Amino acid sequence: MLSSYEVNSGGRLYHGGVVLKEHHLVGREGVWVLFRVREMAAIRISPLLASAIARLPPNGLIADRLMQELRGCHLVADADAEAGRPSQGGAAAAIALPVRAILFLAQTCTMRCIYCYGDGGEYGESGLMTAATARAAVDWLMAHCGDARQVSIGFFGGEPLLNMAVLKQVVDYAKKRAAERTMAIAFTVNTNGSLLDDAIAEYLARESIHVRISFDGPRDVQNRQRPFANGQGSYEQVVARLPLLRRQMPLRAVRATVCGNSDPFAVRQGLEDVGFTACTLDAASPMVGHEAGRTERDAGPPAQVPEQLALRMLAYRRDEVARYFTAVRSRRLDLESPCVLTGLLSALATGRRNHSACGAGRGLRAVSAAGEVYPCHRFVGHREFQMGRLEDDPAAVPNDCHRVFVDTIPACSSCPVRYLCGGGCLYHNWAVTGDLRQVDPVRCRERRVICEELIHGWAMLSAAERAYFREQATRLYPETQGA
Ligand code: SF4
Ligand code: SF4
Repeated sequence: MLSSYEVNSGGRLYHGGVVLKEHHLVGREGVWVLFRVREMAAIRISPLLASAIARLPPNGLIADRLMQELRGCHLVADADAEAGRPSQGGAAAAIALPVRAILFLAQTCTMRCIYCYGDGGEYGESGLMTAATARAAVDWLMAHCGDARQVSIGFFGGEPLLNMAVLKQVVDYAKKRAAERTMAIAFTVNTNGSLLDDAIAEYLARESIHVRISFDGPRDVQNRQRPFANGQGSYEQVVARLPLLRRQMPLRAVRATVCGNSDPFAVRQGLEDVGFTACTLDAASPMVGHEAGRTERDAGPPAQVPEQLALRMLAYRRDEVARYFTAVRSRRLDLESPCVLTGLLSALATGRRNHSACGAGRGLRAVSAAGEVYPCHRFVGHREFQMGRLEDDPAAVPNDCHRVFVDTIPACSSCPVRYLCGGGCLYHNWAVTGDLRQVDPVRCRERRVICEELIHGWAMLSAAERAYFREQATRLYPETQGA
């Protein structure tokens, strides 16, 4: 192991054998940020220093003055410590216990969205979840969540409101089971909004069930992308039902899917026009069909987001992050509404490394209407990912998703933003490339832009603005506390 040494040459002091911590430079309009990759720390530096760091030859001598600046940026590593760091967090490698279960109450739907990854919401096997299966799913979650103080249950489909009777039964049952263990329990429901009425809206509000609406924005886009099963557009019916919910609860957040020629900026405007202020937009993942429980891949090259749409999404992501930081600076963050940027920025705020992008197959599981357990909602119906049935013991079964960490994905293992990105959506990787560990280059580029914009923006915040973010995030993300 090389250790550092000093050399005097021409009356000047130089340092050799210096090991620098893994780092990355992010520049925007002449303003430079130094990101220490493993510490998840971002600081603003001068353009001169950025240029000097970028030009440092590997294993070369470093002038003493520059060395002092590198030390000031905490960039100089203890050689042994840097070389000896594990490539994968030990805790992260353990099998994580499930704390969130997504129940497929209805594998059937009122709509036929053109990008639906669930084959019209049926996932290859149409049906409604029975009350007995729903109760078994709750029992299974309670049996496997260890010492968790809180669990959550999501209602999904298809359109889960097609099975209101079972939804109500499972809410009652899960609350009773949680009370027996004095643990907290939270509920969410993902709905296309088409079946909402006063009674359902009142019930969801009374039971504090967080509603996640899927809606694609402007009238023409919603009607084209999210038609009813009979082919008719759904815009008018859904928009007419939003006030029913808004009479009962704040309804600011919406999720929209962007595909084809859609313009994400126009989609966001369409969502804001009907009262949504927290809009999550994502480009559609390619569809991988289900056929009698088997995966049917389309012949031909892997489906990717078309380049024009990908470029529009890149511009949108930059704008989205800029708007987010504007909200931080003006103390107008809406942290009650789910936003992936909040989770990512919390990681930067705490220095917490993300070894994966989500909890698929770890803290998260999905249960199909028939009682089969999958790593997450998107894998439902693809039998090669089935982890077992409720009556088996699928919590103990490691699965492919469980084994994939960002350091184990070849394209990600040397990426400087890997502990922020986490490697992206495993389902999307698989849908595009056929391999969980092979990233979609288009989505990867988008995630890298998001991460770099966040790193740069975080370094630009004042201490007071960072404190404001931490204070706000602590309310929803307790792990932010004390960072
Ligand atoms: S998906 Fe792309 S941006 Fe994310 S960690 Fe992997 S290489 Fe980096
Ligand atoms: S694999 Fe993709 S769809 Fe599934 S939970 Fe993770 S990010 Fe979400």
